[in-house]
Amino acid sequence: SVDRPRPLVAGNWKMNGLKSSAKVLSEIQAGYTPGLKAKVELAVCPPATLIGMFAMMAVGSRVAIGGQDCHPKEMGAFTGDLSAEMLADAGATYAIVGHSERRQYHGEKDADVCAKALAAHRAGLTAIVCIGETRQEREAGRTLSVVKKQLRGSVPADSNSHNLVIAYEPVWAIGTGLTPTPADVAEVHALIRDELRRLVGKGEHAKVRILYGGSVKPSNAAELMAVANVDGALVGGASLVAADFLAIAGAY
Ligand code: PGA
Repeated sequence: SVDRPRPLVAGNWKMNGLKSSAKVLSEIQAGYTPGLKAKVELAVCPPATLIGMFAMMAVGSRVAIGGQDCHPKEMGAFTGDLSAEMLADAGATYAIVGHSERRQYHGEKDADVCAKALAAHRAGLTAIVCIGETRQEREAGRTLSVVKKQLRGSVPADSNSHNLVIAYEPVWAIGTGLTPTPADVAEVHALIRDELRRLVGKGEHAKVRILYGGSVKPSNAAELMAVANVDGALVGGASLVAADFLAIAGAY
């Protein structure tokens, strides 16, 4: 429809990538043709060691660069952590927060994710807030209630369509090759859209990008991206191969 937000396809490189991976970014930039630029926004979220270099490479190419996490505070005695201001200073414009791997391996709760998203906003970044149910939760029929609770707990009150992107990523679909049916994706994304009305206000809620993530590949991208209220994808494994990432973006 006319109101449909500009889709975003974001690559989450996780703990993958060395300086030699600049080649992959170069290939992505080379394949980001005017035709593709007109249809879809691209972002690459490499490990933090590469953000500065990638941001410099990406100047002028319109490929956005993002971090994969940030600390809630601006600075201080937090060994090993990175602030949202540091990501912004390095050239990032996005920060993924609350990815299920952060929730699982670092014990991040909704309140932590909300504080991180707020920090991203403070630094002028767009937060990509990740939510999604586990296999057990889906099998117990709790998907919608889990997603609703995570959304209400993880989205800060100052959010709008410029500083917030939601990524719905069923935990059981991440890195497994499994995906929900289009009907299941449609049901969850409709719920998220409806909840956004309460969180960011009527009108604004229609402009927030809601990404699907979890085993998105060139072979299933068109089907998933055609689902109502799916405004792009958060891509893990397939984003490490430029041709696959570009094929997914081209599915629009
Ligand atoms: P995947 O990961 O595409 O490798 O399933 C998605 C994600 O974790 O963001």
